[in-house]
Formats: sequence, structure tokens, C-alpha cells
Amino acid sequence: MQSSEVVVQDTMDKPACQICRKAGLEEMLVQSAFWEGERLVVVEDIPALVCRGCGERFYDDETAIRLDMLRGTGFPAGRAARQMNVEVFRLPEPGSSGDG
Ligand SMILES: [Zn+2]
Repeated sequence: MQSSEVVVQDTMDKPACQICRKAGLEEMLVQSAFWEGERLVVVEDIPALVCRGCGERFYDDETAIRLDMLRGTGFPAGRAARQMNVEVFRLPEPGSSGDG
């Protein structure tokens, strides 16, 4: 098995990923989930740099501060932009192969 490394050179103005060291961070709006006590809340439209290689997300300082501010509010329900249903799963039984 041989993997070919592709070096991308057209990313002069974009920082390289600090995790996998590959270039190609892309500016995107992402969602992130946070646990607030027993509640799970989702924040959407967060500007982030997303690595095409490993999927790691990086936030700039201002975005991180704004996220901290939002988390500091405790996510009051009345200020939620919208509601979404979240499906909850459990791990399969230990030892089950899943093909039975
Ligand atoms: Zn990466």
C-alpha cells in the first residue's frame, strides 16, 4: 500500500493545519455542540478555518471570544435562533459483531 502525498502550493495566504501539517485550511461556517448542564445546545454559523486533510477546526481569537461570551450567558432558551431535534444513540452491546 502506497500513499501519495499531495503538496498544495496555492495556499500562500492560508495557514497550515497545526494538527496534520497539511496546507489547505478553508474558511467555512460551522456548527458546534456544547453541553450546558443537562442541555445540549448547538451554535451555528461559526466562522472557522477547517482543515481539508483532517477536518480539524480553528477559530480566530475574536470568534473564540464571542463563543466564550455566548457560553457565559448560559444559552438562555428564549434567545435560541431555532429549535432542532437531536437523535440519541447508545453503544451496541459489547461483543456483538453487528452482522447477526
Ligand atoms: Zn489537518
